Amino acid sequence: MRGIQKGRPPRNVSPDGQNRRSWEQAEAEFSGSLQSAIDRAPHARATFNALDKHKLREVLYQEQGGLCVYCESRVKEGHPPPRIDHWLPLTARPDLALHWPNLYLSCAATHHCDSRKGDTPLRADSADPDLPWPVQKAYEVCIGFTSLGEIYVRTDAPLDDAQRRALILTLGTVHDDTTKDNGILNLNHPALIAARRAALDGEKRRLERDFAGRATTPEARAERANHLKEQPRLPEFVSIRIRWLDKTLGKAK
Ligand SMILES: [Zn+2]
Repeated sequence: MRGIQKGRPPRNVSPDGQNRRSWEQAEAEFSGSLQSAIDRAPHARATFNALDKHKLREVLYQEQGGLCVYCESRVKEGHPPPRIDHWLPLTARPDLALHWPNLYLSCAATHHCDSRKGDTPLRADSADPDLPWPVQKAYEVCIGFTSLGEIYVRTDAPLDDAQRRALILTLGTVHDDTTKDNGILNLNHPALIAARRAALDGEKRRLERDFAGRATTPEARAERANHLKEQPRLPEFVSIRIRWLDKTLGKAK
């Protein structure tokens, strides 16, 4: 999970064969219609579902470098297609159903990420605010990884108490054999831990090959980390790769 910079929303959100409408036009029409809607959430859902999702996803792929906003696995068109997640759930905030900073692309995995999150708000207590959008928060400085591929909230993360509690609950804690599933997103699912570790091993092999027995330099590691971050199509699990290159992985317990 990383901070995301969003650009222009889609210029046409109408299904093929219908009159072109920009995202801004659709949002303005929706805001007007929401005032008079009796059931706001179903109205918001129906309005959102009438948009051409393929056109929405095209822009979201670019904004997110082709990675799931949560687990950073590769997302691409297929069956089922990646899910468009309302960060603040549509049921709780129908007014934000067509608010571009509230929309992110998630993988369609059934055991973690948006399929699992559903309508759950990202907070630990109902009195707390939801976790800020990735356009507002650089989550990559808040989140750490162990050399085994586990994910956790760093003690030096710039978060207030409510945000820290919410992020811990959101990611899920490192499991043992009795707690394989936990957290709103379940990002310590065994399959994800294994996939992150494989990404890490690939990164290690690459650097070993490039340096062929010589010690790597901090400059070479920093150069590789910058190169990864700047790819329009980011490598899967980019955050753990960068933590390893920066030598800021946490210790496995
Ligand atoms: Zn995911």
